[in-house]
Amino acid sequence: MIVDLVKLEGLNNRFEFSISADGLDFETENVRLKSDIAVSCEIIRNIPKTDVTGTISVAAEIDCTRCLIPIEQLIAFSFEATYVPSEELLREGEAELDTADLDVDVLDGNELDMREVVREQILLNLPDQIFCDDECKGLCQKCGANLNLIDCSCEETEIDPRWAALKKLT
Ligand SMILES: [Zn+2]
Ligand SMILES: [Zn+2]
Repeated sequence: MIVDLVKLEGLNNRFEFSISADGLDFETENVRLKSDIAVSCEIIRNIPKTDVTGTISVAAEIDCTRCLIPIEQLIAFSFEATYVPSEELLREGEAELDTADLDVDVLDGNELDMREVVREQILLNLPDQIFCDDECKGLCQKCGANLNLIDCSCEETEIDPRWAALKKLT
């Protein structure tokens, strides 16, 4: 979905739409989107800037950070993004660029590709870590077994010296 910003000038514009998650690349194998992405947003032209605020929600499957088991998770968040045309950044010069706030994205031309906006926002809002359970034991460092499911005997055969010291205390 491409929004022609010239047509928006001077207006406040609300958009409600959903886009397919097919083909959106999140640069990680650990996240899979399971539904269309629902977007509600407002695009406001404050020339030269364009402000986009809204909410995004999508059903996803994310692998547990420790044991890699897939966890169903609703990714839902609100966002704010600001776009500035690349010509504008050049004109403002390097002094401005140094202080440019990091939330500003560069826009080429007068078209805002909402798929790219949404992809970027989801990427920014993915959890850094997610656990199937607070007590998730993760995978055995030696044999790769899921320690929530089976008790491999690697630990018994080779106890980390630091743990051995702790054991003596108890
Ligand atoms: Zn886990
Ligand atoms: Zn093991």
